[in-house]
Amino acid sequence: MTTVGVLGGGQLARMLALAGAPLGVRFLVVDSVADACASQVAPLMQADWRDFAALETFAARIDVATFDFENVPAETAQWLTEHTAVYPNPRALSLAQDRLAEKTLFREIGLDTPAFAEVDSKADLQRALAEIGCPAILKTRRLGYDGKGQFRIKSPEDIDAAWAALGQVPLILEAFVPFERELSVVAVRSREGEFRSYPLTQNWHADGILSMSLAPAPDSAELAEQATSLARRIAEALDYVGVFALELFVHQGRLLGNEMAPRVHNSGHWTIEGAPCSQFENHVRAVLGLPLGDTSSLGVNVMFNWIGDLPAPAPVLAEPRAHWHDYGKEPRAGRKVGHATLCAFTPLEMRDRLARVALALGREAQAAPVLAVLTAVPE
Ligand code: AMP
Repeated sequence: MTTVGVLGGGQLARMLALAGAPLGVRFLVVDSVADACASQVAPLMQADWRDFAALETFAARIDVATFDFENVPAETAQWLTEHTAVYPNPRALSLAQDRLAEKTLFREIGLDTPAFAEVDSKADLQRALAEIGCPAILKTRRLGYDGKGQFRIKSPEDIDAAWAALGQVPLILEAFVPFERELSVVAVRSREGEFRSYPLTQNWHADGILSMSLAPAPDSAELAEQATSLARRIAEALDYVGVFALELFVHQGRLLGNEMAPRVHNSGHWTIEGAPCSQFENHVRAVLGLPLGDTSSLGVNVMFNWIGDLPAPAPVLAEPRAHWHDYGKEPRAGRKVGHATLCAFTPLEMRDRLARVALALGREAQAAPVLAVLTAVPE
């Protein structure tokens, strides 16, 4: 019996375990929180990331280690490589933890990024803002996710407030990009170097948190080809194994790199029902050295993220090809507690379904931009 160890016991570990079960794969999850939601579907060891005695027990019980959480300390990932196989490799993990290193790699492989500058002092910030201009976004280089660790600078008068909010840690200043669209490419690379990617996904955020995804992103054959080839170059440069997501802005018709997530990604949740092989199953296959699965899309797919609490499932479940995911978490403001995926064979069919669900749930505002895109798609 093969056991995959997962560092982090959130909903991503939970969905990995659910996807691996039919393959006969067991899971062991390690998290500092005893009731982390993956523990409802897989055994959990409660331990801190730096509790090396506990990690030694963990490593002895598994065949391969992977991550549901990208901010596992690099030294923990490195230490684990001396005790078990670890995918993705610690170098890829640590690069993706640092916004500066990540954007530097993007440029090296030919992916443009918003203008950016390293900021380690208030003087750096003043210099960088003079160079980049307003508006700009100051971000922590590490440990930021879902819009956390960010400060929008609208004018030079905001410098003091921005520095007071974030100035204790290494930072990066980025130009604020008035993008047309946000896209992501979710891709997978095997231990033998085989690469596959899912169709491009278009994403909408609210308060820095993913709110909705539409896949395949309409009208983007050329961008999809570019995004896929950029993702492949990144994966090859990092000798990456497993699933990752590359988050992109479209600005003036061109792709700009925002960030990469070295793990399965929220914008790929639609693949559970919307693709022949989900991102979760493909990640399990990749880290175990199994053949990769089909990453094509089965029609049109829309994912709603449920943030804070779950709405009533009935209006979603009443639709054909609709799927509900309750992560088993306590409701809390800003917390991802579940998602729903609507699948359809045509954009028209999706428009009807989405409009009905949004109305029944009182989520018309959340769904409006997705409906607008679907309406513009020729049948
Ligand atoms: P991040 O954590 O960097 O992915 O940022 C969360 C969200 O904030 C992104 O998905 C964008 O919607 C927005 N955002 C981040 N960086 C920028 C930028 N440089 N210009 C415009 N919007 C941004």
